[in-house]
Amino acid sequence: MRAVQLTEIGKALVDADVAIPKIGPSDVLIRVAAVGICHSDAHYRAGISKIDRLPLTLGHEVAGRVEKVGSDVMHVSAGDRVCVHYLVHCGSCEFCVHGLEQFCRTGQMIGKHRDGGYAEFIKVPGGNAFPLPDEIPFEVGAIMMCSSATALHALNRARFKAGEAIAIFGFGGLGFSALQLARAFDCGGVYVVEINPAKLASAARMGAIAIDSKAADPVEQIKEATAGKGVDVALELIGSAKTMRQAVLCLATLGRAALVGLTAESMSIHPYTELINKEVEIIGVSDHLATEIPALIEFARSGKLRFPPETLLVVDLDAVQINAALDALQDSIDHVRTVIVPSSDK
Ligand SMILES: [Zn+2]
Ligand SMILES: [Zn+2]
Repeated sequence: MRAVQLTEIGKALVDADVAIPKIGPSDVLIRVAAVGICHSDAHYRAGISKIDRLPLTLGHEVAGRVEKVGSDVMHVSAGDRVCVHYLVHCGSCEFCVHGLEQFCRTGQMIGKHRDGGYAEFIKVPGGNAFPLPDEIPFEVGAIMMCSSATALHALNRARFKAGEAIAIFGFGGLGFSALQLARAFDCGGVYVVEINPAKLASAARMGAIAIDSKAADPVEQIKEATAGKGVDVALELIGSAKTMRQAVLCLATLGRAALVGLTAESMSIHPYTELINKEVEIIGVSDHLATEIPALIEFARSGKLRFPPETLLVVDLDAVQINAALDALQDSIDHVRTVIVPSSDK
């Protein structure tokens, strides 16, 4: 089968001809219909995030049709449309038994620790394949399994509930989903904090109150807009100590700040006045859980989570096109996501 692989760190991905994976009793073989090109893939290629082995087929945002199932797989069968949860886990360690598989002792990420979906076929454990309703295009089924799933996990970790006000710091891929999901939860006010005018305009069009952090202190702006109260939940999706601190400071009494963005910087908090006094919480968010996927699929099926056609760019399963898309990711500022749709005629 055709695959596009990373063979050398820091070099372009290459076209490869590899064997179709053989499945075991608990696996499914999926014919890839769409696979998202993610920022993480650019990081693996550049050597910014470490991978385990070379060559490696990248691609962790996968949707397709089941080609074949192992004898133990009962919930899907050949021909079914599916999307893939990218964390492969053991199911028996102390984390897995509590449904916290993102901390699995032997967990593997598809497209990082094992071959991913930049290929005609992918093998995954049956438990990682979720039925994808007909209403959800394969392209959407693919890309929602990364940033949208993590945005949903962040809302869940922050115990976000109907009627609550929320501030979203950063309106990239995660923010684009977080805003839609927050509205699907029936939120109170939703404030999007950004510096980019195009993103602020797009957030406003999608029903948010745009907070231009270049114009004035975003914490002051949020306090003013909420009659001094602050928001119940803040999501930090940027990965900067400055915005993480702002996410905490804009909280109301008993508010929760969920930190998703990655940074090596330290953040300072005054424990008494900024934390203890208001009993606010600072919560870390890492990946997402298999148990959250059905709700995510339902949000997409019902049209509450949408990726309009103008936000999707399609390329073929072709190293030249994929490398160009990975190059373009590095300085993209819009919400356009690139999805690989393998052509069937090669
Ligand atoms: Zn991703
Ligand atoms: Zn485990």
